[in-house]
Amino acid sequence: MGAAAPQVHQGRAREVRAARRLRLAGSDPGRLRHSRRSRASGVTGATRTEDGAVLTRRSSRRIDALQEVADGVFFSRGRGSNWVLLRDGRELTLIDAGYPADAAQVAGDVRSLAGGIAGLRAVLLTHGHIDHVGALPGLLRHRAVPVHAHPAEIPHLHGEVHDQAGPLDVLRNLTLPHMPSWLAMVLRSGGTTPVHLTGATALPTTGMLDLPGAPEPVLVAGHTRGHAAYLLREPGVLVTGDALVTGHPLSRLHGPQMLPEFFAHDPQQALEQLEVLTTLPAELILPGHGPAWRGSPRAAVEIVRQRS
Ligand SMILES: [Zn+2]
Ligand SMILES: [Zn+2]
Repeated sequence: MGAAAPQVHQGRAREVRAARRLRLAGSDPGRLRHSRRSRASGVTGATRTEDGAVLTRRSSRRIDALQEVADGVFFSRGRGSNWVLLRDGRELTLIDAGYPADAAQVAGDVRSLAGGIAGLRAVLLTHGHIDHVGALPGLLRHRAVPVHAHPAEIPHLHGEVHDQAGPLDVLRNLTLPHMPSWLAMVLRSGGTTPVHLTGATALPTTGMLDLPGAPEPVLVAGHTRGHAAYLLREPGVLVTGDALVTGHPLSRLHGPQMLPEFFAHDPQQALEQLEVLTTLPAELILPGHGPAWRGSPRAAVEIVRQRS
């Protein structure tokens, strides 16, 4: 899985080092650094939800992307979902990869942090839904990078089983808020194009991986059969994917919550499996949808249970 040493783009590296610190209510200002794309137009600054400190900046048109939320941990928000980059020196681990139309943004994030695709050691997936794997064919078109997921998710990634909501599920849920605009976003983002990652391979199921950021996979099944969260033990960060999110266009809730049930392979199992998260040592949650959320997994799960 080794890769040639990447050439760091000095301009980008300087930009990241010089990242402006944000002072956000309820957050440790030393841990959150905005690293780029401070788009002048429409940036309104940090927001806070009713459920606690949330680390985000919004523009009038899109989420302002790629924030360093802990040392070497970068959170990026695409047009409909999030991904995470872990940096160690000149090398990166990417966790999830947005919709197909997010490919340029994901590639830009990789370039910003590692100088180019050569710095990407591996891609880890929380699960195989199109809004989390969509950019990979574009991103990896010219360079093979190992792609891994939990063993139980591999048949889904290979296209052997199908755990994705389909048109009938959407029709049954047309009354959810903002469904027309969400559907339009999915169509614009290539969300109806199947992506099968036949080269994806299984991760070890316990312990830290020998990859930048030393992520630890944690099986949290239900959303899909092999959905995994990733614990970053040293900075105390939990990447929850779609097992637990903090917002979604189809939801009126802010803060920790489950996705609308029709997205889940087994909604009841997804709820029960949250118990797995409650003992994990983290103080920052990076979800697959919605803003980062400062608090422990136990506190987040308690909020979800109160709402379910
Ligand atoms: Zn999903
Ligand atoms: Zn998702």
